[in-house]
Amino acid sequence: MTQPTPATAHNQAPNQPTPDRLVWFDGDLVPADRAKVSVFDHGLLYGDGVFEGIRAYNGKVLKLVTHLQRLFASARRIELTIPYTVDQLADATRATLEANGLADAYIRLCVTRGVGKLGINPFLCDNPTTFIITDLVRLYPQEMYDHGLKIVTAKTVRNHPNALDPRIKSMNYLNNILAKIEGIKAGCIETLMLNHEGKVAECTGDNIFIVSDGELLTPPLHAGVLEGITRNLVLGLARDAGVTVREADMVLDDVYNADECFLTGTAAEVIPVIGIDQKTVGTGKPGPLTQQLLEAFHRLVADAPED
Ligand code: PMP
Repeated sequence: MTQPTPATAHNQAPNQPTPDRLVWFDGDLVPADRAKVSVFDHGLLYGDGVFEGIRAYNGKVLKLVTHLQRLFASARRIELTIPYTVDQLADATRATLEANGLADAYIRLCVTRGVGKLGINPFLCDNPTTFIITDLVRLYPQEMYDHGLKIVTAKTVRNHPNALDPRIKSMNYLNNILAKIEGIKAGCIETLMLNHEGKVAECTGDNIFIVSDGELLTPPLHAGVLEGITRNLVLGLARDAGVTVREADMVLDDVYNADECFLTGTAAEVIPVIGIDQKTVGTGKPGPLTQQLLEAFHRLVADAPED
């Protein structure tokens, strides 16, 4: 017998967009089923665009300005001029949350190259398309936060920074998707990616940290990783707690032999890793520093002022 679909707030299948949600679309709030981009939009045709994944907690958007600054930095690197200011997009984000009555939400803000002729020349596209989706999110099941998750290492390596710099949060996620497919086939929800030199880079949608000899380590930006906003928040929380923190090149063996390991991301927050490539990390349970930082992160998001 098939299981009934779990009810959501809107009685929708959980992996379907909520139709009565309003989407901010180039300046207007429109119902989700009318928020549509053209088939000639280069965001769709070529993955030519940039985006941010942002979180709101208790009606406050966490690090909104920081996210928008990263969006503008990504756009600059692909020579895309966003037709709004940071303030305008901050106001639009808050207006979208308010219109949807959402205090706790995941926000997806996208700017595509816009509509243009076929052919990749971005300079023939005059009007970028900007939209903001707000929805509920649960990336990983609670039991993985309580007991940790197991990951595998992908054969697919992270994009070479001289090809498509992972610091650009672009709408072209195929590199990560290929690695994710490998992980899913191996029964894992998240997958570690190495860089072109065989060093540890990041997971498909999260940054990675290890604890080794009492130090907290994460790969440096030059390893070819996104400068995760959660990564930076966690680095700050660890320093505040008096933990020695280092951005250091690491190889897979360092993760295999780590005392603790965890991942960070806007959607994931802080999630313990207890196994990698069929090997147990540390004791096979979420480690004490991981748990301390996870709790500190929850306290931070509960009280954080908007920036
Ligand atoms: N790396 C990649 C590839 C990501 O897509 C993300 C965001 N999902 C992260 C790291 C984490 O970044 P942030 O903490 O800013 O969400």
